[in-house]
Amino acid sequence: MAASRKIVPFRLPPLPTIGEIIKLYKLRAEKQLSQNFLLDMRLTDKIVRQAGCVRDAHVCEVGPGPGGLTRSILNAGAADLLLVEKDNRFIPGLKLLSEVAPGKVRIVQGDILTYRMDRGFPKVLTKAWEDDPPDLHIIGNLPFNVSTPLIIKWLENISNRTGPFVYGRTRLTLTFQKEVAERLTASTSSRQRSRLSIMAQYLCTVKSCFTIPGRAFIPKPEVDVGVVHFTPLAQPQIQQPFKLVEKVVRNVFQFRRKHCHKGIEMLFPEAQRLELAEVMMREADVDPTLRPTELSITDFRALTDAYSHLCSENPGLLAYDFREELRLKHLNKRMGMTTVRTQKT
Ligand code: SAM
Repeated sequence: MAASRKIVPFRLPPLPTIGEIIKLYKLRAEKQLSQNFLLDMRLTDKIVRQAGCVRDAHVCEVGPGPGGLTRSILNAGAADLLLVEKDNRFIPGLKLLSEVAPGKVRIVQGDILTYRMDRGFPKVLTKAWEDDPPDLHIIGNLPFNVSTPLIIKWLENISNRTGPFVYGRTRLTLTFQKEVAERLTASTSSRQRSRLSIMAQYLCTVKSCFTIPGRAFIPKPEVDVGVVHFTPLAQPQIQQPFKLVEKVVRNVFQFRRKHCHKGIEMLFPEAQRLELAEVMMREADVDPTLRPTELSITDFRALTDAYSHLCSENPGLLAYDFREELRLKHLNKRMGMTTVRTQKT
């Protein structure tokens, strides 16, 4: 009888510590790139555990820097790890990691905001959207100045099933400035409820995992950091194009302390403002005296559906932007004044 062979889990061999790597390669943190390093492996292991099971999975790590989180991902048994790092000073240290984990690490020196993730992984990974998520995770201790534009871009990608989501409902485990993490996960009527809460929650199950105190990073940032996990929903809660949803949500939240009808009115040109806002609120069956923070995702679904309906009946409405109308009004006023002045002289 053949002896059953025990599978030995992969562990990285002894390596210089991350602190030693930072010294060895003289990796001073660059403020411009929002570099705050995590050196405590218990914390990096904890971030990786929030992603779920990464054993034998494909993983993309965003901004690996000196490689603390990278080591935790490899120790958790990832089969294929794609590193996207903008700062070339980190590449030699990351190459060292790829040498001790042969065939597992791929390094891309580039900007995650422009990197074509849809080409980064084998197509065989792809799962149907309604199926379970693919065996692909995105994990990152993101730079603060990149995290918000990046999550907005990825939410749009989720809506269009592009970028990292051509493979299906790819899960994300990312860090944010604590305040941004709170906004992403804020529920109806909470103080932190904002545009970001609606945009994230209509497309994903968003889970706040834990907070990392600022003092755990080197150098210490001004703020604490929140770890957030996103799983794209099989059925988005709003079935309208991303840009349309974004427009409605942005308008509603621009007067966050006022009744929601105030922001909704601004979706319409001045001449029809009150009339069309009333039609929209009536069709959506949403109480106009609720504050933006009190509106549920269901309310936003009804509002975006009603707005889409009005746009289909009023050509040009979707492209209307009250800020542009205001800008032209001011411009005309100024031109008028200039003309009067010129005539007088
Ligand atoms: N992951 C490391 C850790 O936890 O110690 C470093 C985290 S540090 C907050 C952010 C990292 O992202 C830095 O290594 C920085 O160079 C990198 N970075 C900044 N902007 C980036 C971008 N647009 N694309 C890819 N990496 C970026």
